[in-house]
Amino acid sequence: MNFDNKIVLVTGASKGIGRQIAIDFANKGAIVIANYNKSYNLAKELLEYNIDIYKADISIEEEVKNMIDYIISKYKKIDILVNNAGICNDTIIENKTKEDFMKVLEVNLVGAFLVSKYSYKYINNGSIINIASTNGIDTNYIYSIDYDASKSALISLSANLSNLSSKIRVNTICPGWIDTTMNSDMDIEFKNKELNKIMLNRFGTCKEVSNVCLFLASPLASYVNNAIIRVDGGKKN
Ligand code: NAP
Repeated sequence: MNFDNKIVLVTGASKGIGRQIAIDFANKGAIVIANYNKSYNLAKELLEYNIDIYKADISIEEEVKNMIDYIISKYKKIDILVNNAGICNDTIIENKTKEDFMKVLEVNLVGAFLVSKYSYKYINNGSIINIASTNGIDTNYIYSIDYDASKSALISLSANLSNLSSKIRVNTICPGWIDTTMNSDMDIEFKNKELNKIMLNRFGTCKEVSNVCLFLASPLASYVNNAIIRVDGGKKN
């Protein structure tokens, strides 16, 4: 698989899954723009991989617009967009404010919408991959009702985006539990309970999500459109 001269934008690429995806595309010949928001110190390490880094809060329309303008003025096109950036804010329902809830929707859902909206007309024979979550399908975690709603809605957004153009394949990846900082402070009792639900009996790696992302973006997936792929080791509800 090679992505020579392909222009790839990965949102939320300073760490975790997005970072791995950015590095893997770059290692396969792509010209990668890694979007980040707060973690400049981590993002700048990507310069060593010859990856271009760009700071933008994807929930702010003006910043998204400026990011796409920057990419188009420098690279003229986008071939592959990976909407990966996401946040969670797990807590009991009594502690969730409307502002907290809206923030999760704004980043996970509206952010993906904005980046897609400003990018899609520059994608010709390319692909959009949205990183949702099994939480968007199973939705059985009361602590993350906002996150789960955002991911369900992202799956819906993805389906609608797949009707946008015959030149853009749009697919969704739903990771299950993946080892990243997003869940590094997880209660050990809860973690063991979750591990028992996973057939492979372990959390996944960023690489295992990235592998599927590269497949979906490649010609190997030329007839895959509007698919939802779980990468969860066989997680039961
Ligand atoms: P992570 O390690 O916490 O990384 C999240 C990334 O999103 C960071 O690079 C962060 O950038 C970026 N980000 C957050 N808010 C942003 C904003 N407003 N604008 C631009 N970038 C923003 O998370 P992860 O575990 O790799 O998760 C990546 C994606 O996979 C998310 O969509 C997540 O929901 C999904 N997912 C993760 C798991 C899991 O178990 N880890 C499971 C299912 C789905 P800065 O730090 O620079 O702000």
